[in-house]
Amino acid sequence: MGEESKHVAHCLVLAYPAQGHINPMIEFSKRLIQRGLKITVVSTVSFWNTTTPHTLKSLSSHPQNIQVESISDGYDNGGLAAAESLEIYKETFWKVGPRTLSNLIQKLAGNNNPVDCVICDGFLYWALDVAKDEFGILGALFFTQPCAVNNIYFHVYKKWLELPLSESEYLIPGLPKLAASELPSFLYDYGSYPGYFDIIRNQFCNIHKADWVLANTFYELESQVVNWLKEIWPLKTIGPCVPSMYLDKRLLHDNDYGVSIYDQNIDSCIKWLNDKPKGSVVYVSFGSMAGLTEKQTEELAFGLKESDCYFLWVVRDCDQVKIPKWFLETDDSEKGLVVTWCPQLLVLTHDAVGCFLTHCGWNSTLEAICFGVPTIAMPLWTDQITNAKHIKDVWKMGVRVDADETGLVRRESIGNCIKEILESEKGNEIKNNALKWRNLAKDSVDEGGSSDQNITEFVAKLAQLCS
Ligand code: UDP
Repeated sequence: MGEESKHVAHCLVLAYPAQGHINPMIEFSKRLIQRGLKITVVSTVSFWNTTTPHTLKSLSSHPQNIQVESISDGYDNGGLAAAESLEIYKETFWKVGPRTLSNLIQKLAGNNNPVDCVICDGFLYWALDVAKDEFGILGALFFTQPCAVNNIYFHVYKKWLELPLSESEYLIPGLPKLAASELPSFLYDYGSYPGYFDIIRNQFCNIHKADWVLANTFYELESQVVNWLKEIWPLKTIGPCVPSMYLDKRLLHDNDYGVSIYDQNIDSCIKWLNDKPKGSVVYVSFGSMAGLTEKQTEELAFGLKESDCYFLWVVRDCDQVKIPKWFLETDDSEKGLVVTWCPQLLVLTHDAVGCFLTHCGWNSTLEAICFGVPTIAMPLWTDQITNAKHIKDVWKMGVRVDADETGLVRRESIGNCIKEILESEKGNEIKNNALKWRNLAKDSVDEGGSSDQNITEFVAKLAQLCS
């Protein structure tokens, strides 16, 4: 008699429709597939439609055979951009999303592909109502932000940290003492972003239903806060969700990382970097969402030009109009290259890159850590402010620009930071720290490392519960 075929656990991985959310969740999915799980990655119809044409093709033709499915946010033609406001978008999505997720789980069951576990983005916490209450299957919350920031937001959710802020300094368990201005910006400007603040605060409202809480970070990077949170959550650190083969600088194709919502200028970037001296280029990017003001764009342009360094600057299409005319007219493509989007991992792992001037989005921060690239922190909003504090003062792998009393970062500050990293003695110390973190990141995902072990435990428990 033949052996009964073993049940392979099927996880549905549901990502909030944004670049910084989908990338780590896809990378995590690949690690689960490597360990024999069946994975279906889900986001919204509108999101998949906005990714570049090769994205879906590259996922479904990926050697690891990643299945892709959709739910609806109520705006299948256009997503958030088609809604009147984020608040209205959220309200619609939160109504339509659970219903369409439920339909999807039923459809998959009908196709002989039943779902055993839903791993949902913390933003889409309502997926746990569907998984646990409606289908009685397993559920995990996946946080795409660092544990430091999750803990701060959790304190706000629990009202252990009262808003509006009234203290000048805050002591939150597991974290260094933080000035009010070092907390995520939503804690002091939440009135300007009620929709986002609401989503962020409510990430925790279903945490009691979660069988696991998965965080895209690694133990060694945030050990104190992880230890504290592990006492109250079923927490597992499983990051950095950055392809581990890049940690060895053995580059694979760009399609091996996440998805892309913008067309990349792969060849032009890499060709341009190829003949630059080792460690000489400042890579400048502010991620996929936030944009600089026109005035700030001009100061940055002056800062880069006057520092006389090589620079590769990503200015998304929607922000290109802010680039000053004089800069474009005097553009010296030998010294600086401006692109609308780039293959960030290929850039960060390129030997020519000496530092990363970043908005400190969590993925960009982890990517800099993974490749040991020293950073110039220029945070704009949300968790970026707290990430910048950690980069400079806790991990000591970067410097931070200063803003003047109007909030503008002047060209002098940008120039000084570039000099400090690329030319000063302190810059060498920072580079060494960046390399130290790189090694720890690599150890954590290598066989037997902290994140690797956590993933092994997660998969084993899942197999046990689903058998
Ligand atoms: N990214 C990219 N090309 C670019 C700029 C960014 O591929 O030119 C990727 C980057 O590697 C990261 C993501 O976009 O994975 C941005 O995420 P992050 O959390 O840093 O910032 P967000 O976009 O969420 O503000």
